[in-house]
Amino acid sequence: MARSFRLPLPAANPEKIRFPERCICCGAPRQADSTLVASRLVMRKQRQEPVTLRYAVPHCDRCYRGTKSVFLAGLLPFLAGFILLGGVAFVLAAFYANAIGLDLNNVPGSGNSLVVGGAAGMIVGLIGAFLFEGAARLLLLPFFGQALWQAPLLMTQFIQDADYVAGLRGKLDPEAKHLLLTFNNDELADEFARLNGDTAVPTP
Ligand SMILES: [Zn+2]
Repeated sequence: MARSFRLPLPAANPEKIRFPERCICCGAPRQADSTLVASRLVMRKQRQEPVTLRYAVPHCDRCYRGTKSVFLAGLLPFLAGFILLGGVAFVLAAFYANAIGLDLNNVPGSGNSLVVGGAAGMIVGLIGAFLFEGAARLLLLPFFGQALWQAPLLMTQFIQDADYVAGLRGKLDPEAKHLLLTFNNDELADEFARLNGDTAVPTP
């Protein structure tokens, strides 16, 4: 069972929060730090300002490397799907648009068929990226196990502004007044709660 905390800012700024002195994912001795980045665009005085917080999260060597490869294991198929399927859609749509005569009344310096191709490539590329990442996740499951399975898909990470390292997920609420942390490991969640006292407010 995952456990979540809602931490008020600025009490939960990176220099004030304390993590247990062992791997946040499996509890093994601390060997490296992974970086959890919580960021959000916030309206302040009618201007959008980026708020970015970087937390050094203790990991053992295995979970540290797992975090890195999980990111690549999502990113590489995501890019491959985008480029391959998006590229094919771009070429097909551009040729088709040209063949049905869309380029006949081009303004010099612009190409209607290229615009059509670009739009088709973008849409099909994103669908392809999504499919490829899902397929890669199924294929890689035996090698990465839970670390990969629990990580949100890249596409949803883009939409949700959430960041994930092995064993821990973090994001800022829309006004950037609270940091939301979710631990996969109950024991380490308890230790985190003890270390941070009143700042760590459990959420159901
Ligand atoms: Zn670990």
